[in-house]
Amino acid sequence: MDVKGWYKRYILNTYSRVGPVFYRGQGSFLWDEEGRKFIDLFPGWGVNILGHAHPQIAKVLASQAKRLVHIPNNLYHRWQAELARKIIENSFRGKVFFANSGAEAVEAGLKLSRVYGRIYKKPEIICMENSFHGRTLGALSCTAQKKYQEPFRPLLSGIKVVKFSDFEDFKRKVSKKTGAVILEPIQGEAGVNIASSEYLLKLREFCNREKILLIFDEVQTGMGRTGRLFCFQRFGVKPDLFTLSKGLGGGFPISCLVVGRRFSSLLTPGMHASTFGGSPLACRVSLEVFKIIEKEGLLKKVRENETLIRKIFKGWQKKFKIIKEVRGLGLMWAIELKFARADYLFKKALQEKVIINATHNKVLRIMPALNIEKEVLIEGLFRLEKVLTSLS
Ligand SMILES: *Cc1c(COP(=O)(O)O)cnc(C)c1O
Repeated sequence: MDVKGWYKRYILNTYSRVGPVFYRGQGSFLWDEEGRKFIDLFPGWGVNILGHAHPQIAKVLASQAKRLVHIPNNLYHRWQAELARKIIENSFRGKVFFANSGAEAVEAGLKLSRVYGRIYKKPEIICMENSFHGRTLGALSCTAQKKYQEPFRPLLSGIKVVKFSDFEDFKRKVSKKTGAVILEPIQGEAGVNIASSEYLLKLREFCNREKILLIFDEVQTGMGRTGRLFCFQRFGVKPDLFTLSKGLGGGFPISCLVVGRRFSSLLTPGMHASTFGGSPLACRVSLEVFKIIEKEGLLKKVRENETLIRKIFKGWQKKFKIIKEVRGLGLMWAIELKFARADYLFKKALQEKVIINATHNKVLRIMPALNIEKEVLIEGLFRLEKVLTSLS
C-alpha cells in the first residue's frame, strides 16, 4: 500500500486532501516525491512566514535541541523570558502567556474574559459573523459559522454574534453585560475581510467607555503579515488583548496571548496552564524569527510586494469576468469569484504547480512567505493567471 492508502486506512477522516505527496521544501518551493517542483504561495496556511527550511531556523532548531528542548513551566529558562520581552517591547506594556496553537491562545483570552466578567458582572462575550478562532469548544463557540458549530452543540453560553465591521449592529446588540469583544482585524479564513479603521476606532472608544475588553485575534495577521509586525499597528488601534500563533514560530508550533498592563493581574498561579507552552525550543526558534524579520528587512519587503500584488490583482479584476472582487493587505490576499469554483481552481493550480488556497468554494487566497523573492512571486502569479484563464 502507498502513502495515500495508509492515510485512508489509519488517519481519521477530518480533512479532504488532494494532490501529490510532498517531500521537501526550500524557501517558497516545495517538491513532491516524484521530484516535481511547486511554487508555494500559501506556505503552511500562513505558518511558514520565512518559507520552508530557512537555514537560520534549521540551525537554531538543531543547536537548541542539543541543549534543552523542554522543561516544565514551574521552572525558569532564559528563552521564554527573552521572547516575552521581545513581544512586549514591540507591542505595548503588558504580559504574555505562552501556548502551542491558535485555538489555545484564544482559549486563554476567553478564560481571562470570563474572570473579568465575573468580577465586573459582565459575563457576555461578543464575536463576529464569519469569524474563525479555532476548533476547541471555547474557540469554536466564538467561531460564528454554522458548518463548524452545528455538529458540536451545545457550545459555550453567553456568546453573542454581531455583523463584522458594522458599528451600528454592534451598538444594537452590546449590553451592560458585555465584558469582551473578540475579532480578527482581518478575517482570514472567511476570505480576507478587512475591518475598516473607522470601525476599529469606534469599537476602541466604545470599549474604553463601557469597560469592555477588546481582543484582536492576530493568529493569522500577526508577525509581519500585513507589513507591520502586528496588524493592529497598521490600523493604529490598540487592543487590550491579542493572540499570535501561525507565523510566531516560523513553522514550529507556538502561540501566545498578550495581555495589556491593566488586565495582566487577572490570572494568578494555578488558574491557567499549558504543559508544552513556551518551551525552550519553541521560544528559541521564535526569537530567531523576530531576528530574521528585522535583519532581512522583511516588513519593508512585504509592503513592496503588497503594491505589486495589488497592481496585478486589480488588473485581473478587469480582465476576468469570473472575478467579483479582489482584496488584501500586506501578503494576505483574496480573489472572490462570482461562482462556486474555487475548489476546482485550487486543483487546477496544483496541476500548474502552484499552491494556493480555496475557502468557502468562492474565494482564492494567497499568503506568500514574507521573504519570497520577487521573481518567484511573479512566476507563481503567472501560473495562477493561467489557471484563471482556463475558466474564462
Ligand atoms: C488558524 C487560526 C486559528 C486557529 O489556529 P489553530 O492553531 O489551528 O488552533 C485561530 N484564529 C485565527 C485568526 C486563525 O487564522
